[in-house]
Amino acid sequence: MNNYCGDIIGCNEKRTTCFEKNGYPILECEKCGQRFTQLQNVSNHVDEVYSDDYFFAGKDGYPNYLEEKDILYKYGFKYAKIIAKHIKPGHVLDTGCAAGFILKGFEDAGWKCHGIEPNKTMADYGKEKLNLNITVGSLETFETTQKFDLINMIQVIGHFYDIDKALLNVAGLLNDNGLVLVESWNMKSTVAKLMGKGWHEYSPPSVVHWFSDETITELFNYYGFSLIEKGYPSKRINVKHALSLMEDKTPDFILKKKIINLLNNSVGKLTLKYPPVDLKWYLFKKNTV
Ligand SMILES: [Zn+2]
Repeated sequence: MNNYCGDIIGCNEKRTTCFEKNGYPILECEKCGQRFTQLQNVSNHVDEVYSDDYFFAGKDGYPNYLEEKDILYKYGFKYAKIIAKHIKPGHVLDTGCAAGFILKGFEDAGWKCHGIEPNKTMADYGKEKLNLNITVGSLETFETTQKFDLINMIQVIGHFYDIDKALLNVAGLLNDNGLVLVESWNMKSTVAKLMGKGWHEYSPPSVVHWFSDETITELFNYYGFSLIEKGYPSKRINVKHALSLMEDKTPDFILKKKIINLLNNSVGKLTLKYPPVDLKWYLFKKNTV
């Protein structure tokens, strides 16, 4: 059986097909309730999914990721404040760090920053413009002799094509008592339930795993971590990004394109607070053995 799908926590149970999305069956393990899909071919997966289009062409990704700079910087700084309650600043590894804006917020909070990013354009931007230490690649294959005190997975856990490899690597890369900050979409939230298969996060093949509070905690317990805190992020979103998602994810209505274009031209750099509904953060601590 492929290990990039379910059965990562060894359930080996029957799967129910919940529905199909983008031609991919969304499966649910009957024992632990985790949802996942199976990729047919992982060899080019990362290159295909995180091409420059993901960051610049809208759709499932961003209309222009670089416009998120200020929001993400502040966001990283806020997360560093939460972490400071539990651990002194040390070495942080941000997985799927994109251009490194969130990392920059951690750097200003006193952290020594490292990033991994599959998209070369983004990684190069972070290296050249922000002077950050970023490796092009994915967590599944990342190797270094550096040990970390904190590993960030901000909206990346659902994207891992081999989650078993990724989490084994995390456990190995962390110092004793190291922390993992995970931000993930909650498939058991009211919004997700109401939207059903239309929920924005059901977007394979970019996203291949879906979690709830319970399944994400169970997953990290399995890999030797304990939950120490969780909450809703104080996230602000760029209105342009929201409009781009809306254009892609909502059914057509009369004058849809015209209305969205009109809004797009008038919003400028406007940001909105993302309501505390379907996105959560979790802080896990590596168990000492
Ligand atoms: Zn299971």
